[in-house]
Amino acid sequence: MHVNRLIAGPRGVFICDECVKMCQTILDGERRLSSDRSLIAGGNTKSLSPRAIYRHLDEYVIGQEAAKRSLSVAVYNHYKRIDNKGRLADVEVGKSNVLLIGPTGCGKTLLAQTLAKFLDVPFCIADATALTEAGYVGEDVETILARLIQAADNDITRAQRGIVYIDEIDKIGRKSGANPSITRDVSGEGVQQALLKIVEGNIVFVPPQGGRKHPQGEMLQIDTTDILFICGGAFEGLDTIVTERLGLRRHIGVPSPNAARNYEQIKATLTHRISPDDLMHYGLIPELVGRLPVVVGLDPLDHKELVEVLTRPRNAIVKQYQRMLSLDGVELVFSDDALHVAAELAMKQQTGARGLRAIIERTLVNVMYEAPSRRDIRKVVVDGLAIKGDAAPKMYDYTGRLLGAELDQAA
Ligand code: ADP
Repeated sequence: MHVNRLIAGPRGVFICDECVKMCQTILDGERRLSSDRSLIAGGNTKSLSPRAIYRHLDEYVIGQEAAKRSLSVAVYNHYKRIDNKGRLADVEVGKSNVLLIGPTGCGKTLLAQTLAKFLDVPFCIADATALTEAGYVGEDVETILARLIQAADNDITRAQRGIVYIDEIDKIGRKSGANPSITRDVSGEGVQQALLKIVEGNIVFVPPQGGRKHPQGEMLQIDTTDILFICGGAFEGLDTIVTERLGLRRHIGVPSPNAARNYEQIKATLTHRISPDDLMHYGLIPELVGRLPVVVGLDPLDHKELVEVLTRPRNAIVKQYQRMLSLDGVELVFSDDALHVAAELAMKQQTGARGLRAIIERTLVNVMYEAPSRRDIRKVVVDGLAIKGDAAPKMYDYTGRLLGAELDQAA
């Protein structure tokens, strides 16, 4: 790569203008982060703003603009409410628990995780399908709180300001929901009732260390009033419910091209037009819907966004592998074609960005196996063929000579 300027340092060390620029970006980012981040854990939201939260989310999460905006506002309000309880005593301001609705691999968990990290509050993830009603075999809802307490290093006060992400909330819909094509957990309603108990804000007794209750065990006591619950789910089939409510019928038979186009356009906006009634219709109990006032629709990531997921976020997958290999003295380059082929494969798998890491990992596994013990490898170029598995990534030595045959044998 050609650079404009090389700046000399002591003992024959040089740094180029590109690297100086990159270091400046990192330093700016860190400075902004520390000034933006409020002392949430200690109870000071003064320096926090929805804009600051959004900006941080934007560094890690591609697309999902509406979700990033709504979440920034909801989270800001949540902690503002907690920190101003005295001043808000005259009006009861409700908690802004959030429901994220979007297909798998579109960034629901990532959003919740990124928020918790930014705010520096304890965080844990639970899977609604693993939960059972009290008294049944499986995980009690209390174990979620036990995990949050663990994440807070057993500091209950900190845990009480934490964030819990509950995944697959759509899978515990009530059986009598309106969409019989979706198989539902028989105990769905019981689990929802159990969840409601912690989501709405209560004093809950929790067995320590995530274990199940035992008669002599000393229970921990936690107040869930200020814990932010973010629930997520794909809600497959919900679009039909919304379409019907809006009086927009699906086309039966072959629709005219115009009608089909209109329907596709409407369908793309459906996740942003979900009402509480739709959720109840789907099988969530009204009390739980009432406790999840912020409903946010997320869109499936398109091809362009999947390419961006690979390269743009601060911890982008491509950057991670480049960094790892740089520790072995190897420069890793992805061609544009490689990025597009990876995005295409991920689209085909229909698992959103979830499959991208596996695709890159599979492509590079032999390189990562070889590089640490081969001093001659200086550069590796990954192209579309390598991503497809039709050829090995191309490896070069420091003179630019193509290596590679050895890698094919290793494969
Ligand atoms: P889900 O919507 O199923 O909860 P996740 O948030 O767990 O999806 O996404 C899985 C992985 O895919 C994440 O760890 C992240 O690497 C990547 N990813 C998904 N969506 C995005 C996005 N919008 N921006 C950046 N990375 C994403």
